[in-house]
Amino acid sequence: MLKKRELIDPFNRKISYVRVSVTDRCDFRCSYCMPEKMQFLPKKDVLSLEELNQIAAAFISLGVEKIRVTGGEPLVRKEILNFFEKTGTYLETGHLKELTITTNGSQLERYAEQLFEFGVRRVNVSLDTLDAEKFKVLTRFGRLQNVIKGIMKAKEVGLKIKINFVALKKINETELFDMLNWCDRNGLDLTFIEVMPLGNFKAEHRLSHYWSLMDLQNDIKSRFTLKAIDESSGGPAKYFRVQETGQKIGFITPLSHNFCGTCNRVRITCTGELHMCLGQKNKTDLREIVRSYPGDIEAIKIQIEKAILQKPQSHSFSYQHNKVTGQLNRYMSHTGG
Ligand code: SAM
Ligand code: SF4
Repeated sequence: MLKKRELIDPFNRKISYVRVSVTDRCDFRCSYCMPEKMQFLPKKDVLSLEELNQIAAAFISLGVEKIRVTGGEPLVRKEILNFFEKTGTYLETGHLKELTITTNGSQLERYAEQLFEFGVRRVNVSLDTLDAEKFKVLTRFGRLQNVIKGIMKAKEVGLKIKINFVALKKINETELFDMLNWCDRNGLDLTFIEVMPLGNFKAEHRLSHYWSLMDLQNDIKSRFTLKAIDESSGGPAKYFRVQETGQKIGFITPLSHNFCGTCNRVRITCTGELHMCLGQKNKTDLREIVRSYPGDIEAIKIQIEKAILQKPQSHSFSYQHNKVTGQLNRYMSHTGG
C-alpha cells in the first residue's frame, strides 16, 4: 500500500498549518508594520488566484489541515473570495479542517457573510486601540468605526472573533483594561502580541515601543487571576482564563519565550516564497515551479517536500541586553502575520 504523504521536518515536527499572504497591499499603514510611503510590489510578482489555488491544493494533499489567509490586507485583494470559495470545498470533503483569516476588519462588514458561507468560522481581527484618534494615527489611514462595524457584522453572521492586540509601549499601554473589558462585554477572545523586529525600522524605534508581555501579564495579574489553559495551536500563543470573568486571553511571545519545539507551521509570501520560519531566512521559491509547470500539482508537492527538510529548529529574534538581534528586513505584510 502507498504510504500517505505528509510533511515531517528534520526535528520530527508535523507541518499541518500554512499561513498564506495573498497580497502585500493594505488600506492601512500601521506604524509598526510598514512605512507611510510603502513601496508595493508590481502585480506580476504576486501569485495569481489560480496559482494560489494550486499551491493550497498541493499543501492540502500533503496533509495540511489548516490554512490562514493573511497579508497585507487580504480583503482588499480583488476577487479574494474566489480563493475562499475554492479552498472552502476542501472543508466539505474533510481534507481541510479549518480555513481562516487575519484581517484589519476594514472590509469585514461587506464580506463577513460570504466568508461564513464559504466555510470560515473564526476570524482574527487586529485592533490595537479603542480610541478613534489614536487609531487614525497608528494605522495612518484607518477608521475605527468601520472596524467596529465589521466586527459586529461578523459576530452577527456567526463568526467567532479573536482580537489581536500588538502591545506597544507609550501607545496603547494605558488601554490594557479598557480592551480587556470591551472584549469581555462583546464576547471576543483577545490575544496580545509582542512587536517583532521585522521590516526596515530603526532599532531604537523598536526598542522604544517594545512592551514585554511578561510585564503586561503582571499588570493584568494586579487586578485579575489568570489560570493557564492547556490549549495549543502549535504556535507561540499561550492561553489563560481570567477567573473573575471567564474570558479567554492569549499571549504571543516569540521574543520572551521560545515556542519553536512544537512549531507546526510554514508561511507563503504573496510572491510564492515558502518560508520555513518567520524568524529565519530559509526559503524556497514556489512561484517559479508553479509558473514553469502550470497545473502540475505534483511538481509543487515535490518542491514543498524538499523545502520542509530545511526547516530550522528555531528562530533567532531577541531584544536581550537592550539590543535588537535577529532583525529581518522583510515586512510582516509580505510574509503574512
Ligand atoms: N492586515 C491584516 C491585519 O492587520 O490583521 C493581516 C496582516 S497583518 C501583517 C497580521 C498581524 O501582524 C496583525 O495582527 C498585525 O498587528 C501583526 N503585525 C504586523 N507587524 C508586526 C510586527 N512587527 N510585530 C508583531 N506583529 C506585527
Ligand atoms: Fe496593514 Fe495589517 Fe500591516 Fe496594519 S498590520 S499595515 S492592517 S498589513
